[in-house]
Amino acid sequence: MAGRDAAANQLTQWSKTNESERAVNNHGCPVPSLTKSQTVGTKGPILLQDTNLTEHLAAFDRERIPERVVHAKGAGAFGYFEVTHDITKYTKAVTFSAVGKKTDVAVRFSTVGGESGSADTARDPRGFAVKLYTEDGNWDLVGNNTPIFFIRDPILFPSFIHTQKRNPQTHLKDPDMFWDFISLRPETTHQVCFLFGDRGTPDGYRHMNGYGSHTFKLVNAQGKPTYAKFHFKTDQGIKNLPADKAHQISADDPDYSIHDLYNAIAEGRHPSWTVHIQVMTYEEAEKFRYNPFDLTKIWPQAEFPLQPVGRMVLNRNPTNYFSQVEQLAFAPANMIPGIEPSPDKMLQGRLFSYVDTHRHRLGANYTQIPVNCPIPSVKRATYTRDGPMCIFAQDGAPNYFPNSFNGPHECPSAIQPTFNLSGDIERYNSADEDNFSQVTTFWNKVLGPEERNRLASNIAGHLKAATAAVRERAVANFSQVHPDFGALIKSKLG
Ligand code: NDP
Repeated sequence: MAGRDAAANQLTQWSKTNESERAVNNHGCPVPSLTKSQTVGTKGPILLQDTNLTEHLAAFDRERIPERVVHAKGAGAFGYFEVTHDITKYTKAVTFSAVGKKTDVAVRFSTVGGESGSADTARDPRGFAVKLYTEDGNWDLVGNNTPIFFIRDPILFPSFIHTQKRNPQTHLKDPDMFWDFISLRPETTHQVCFLFGDRGTPDGYRHMNGYGSHTFKLVNAQGKPTYAKFHFKTDQGIKNLPADKAHQISADDPDYSIHDLYNAIAEGRHPSWTVHIQVMTYEEAEKFRYNPFDLTKIWPQAEFPLQPVGRMVLNRNPTNYFSQVEQLAFAPANMIPGIEPSPDKMLQGRLFSYVDTHRHRLGANYTQIPVNCPIPSVKRATYTRDGPMCIFAQDGAPNYFPNSFNGPHECPSAIQPTFNLSGDIERYNSADEDNFSQVTTFWNKVLGPEERNRLASNIAGHLKAATAAVRERAVANFSQVHPDFGALIKSKLG
């Protein structure tokens, strides 16, 4: 087996610890043959009574479920989150109740725009979704490897994603669609610069940071709320692939990142991330020079320093990809007492959209799939009932509330603290809410000359395929970040 890695040896390893069992059909009855259909004579035809064959084919016909519209290609793993620093002054969330406390996690990393067979090293943001199985139910932190996003109003999300996918007539990726939208909505500029910068092609999933991205609200035991952002910093160090190498790997090993994660865990090189929060008080949020809930912007670390919280370790590979990763369903709406949504419009839109997509993709009872279930100590005492594939026995408990027969009762400690809102209901235009100042900081302060040059080259290499008017509008936007940036892209476009 020399020269073969853990992933290549999976079947060999399995066979060492498993004896061959008698094959049965889906009802547990023994299967007479897995190689011979039942026919009249040696030449056929096949008999309808060969239910052994028909079950085999019918199950195969139904093997695929709809792939995720976004984040279709991914890798998953399991592990734990451990608290290293006390943040109970900010949140009563049970996950953070004591230093040293461990909570089991399931994590799924992904690319965003490609289909489930696409290459792992494509230039694309990466999904970084964490499910924490807590005593108060599942808490999902459904983030990316970027602290920001392309847009700030969720009504634009379907259009934005359409432009990253295939042209409806040609069924090809379309640079006009991509750059037309990007240049018409300049709030995309910040994330576009992360996308075309070095971090746009991370070296696998272990060498990138994760961010909860949105602003959340933390609430402590006294009911005091604070705004917060979550940062997962890779302990493996940030490592990116040069553009040409990423391109080469997409041909040689399109499953590079799945491969890398599986082998690292199987070989005991367990990847980990140090988790931090940034916090902002209500008073600071009111005075902050940016909208603190704008997902196209970061909170500067100098003003809102990273505070260490804990460490996440991945130490277990899935034993069945389909049941444990393809069916692993994350939703930003899954929050536990002590963690609440902020007014971030993108988060508000995602609170609806993710659960809706899972109901469509996996069915109304997708939370009964084992990987999506809360831990066993969380009793499933609910008034929701039945539906397709319902497997939880509801026993004799009342299915209505209020009732006089010991049905599940309300939990006042889970009530979210009152907060005050006012404002005129309107469809506010957020298109021009300062699209460039943080990108200018990124260009001036974060990037060195070589990084700037690669960023401009990567943009020009993609933008050159767009039509002239779209190219000019895009260059005009980048010039608003810094005139040198626009000029450099223009020169590379020729
Ligand atoms: P800081 O110097 O405090 O932060 C700069 C941060 O930039 C770093 O901490 C790092 O984030 C991130 N970064 C470094 N290289 C890259 C890259 N090639 N692509 C993307 N991100 C990179 O400055 P400010 O907080 O004042 O932020 C300045 C600008 O830095 C922002 O406008 C934003 O564009 C960018 N930035 C800031 C982040 C933040 O949370 N403050 C996070 C990411 C980007 P990290 O430490 O998370 O690796």
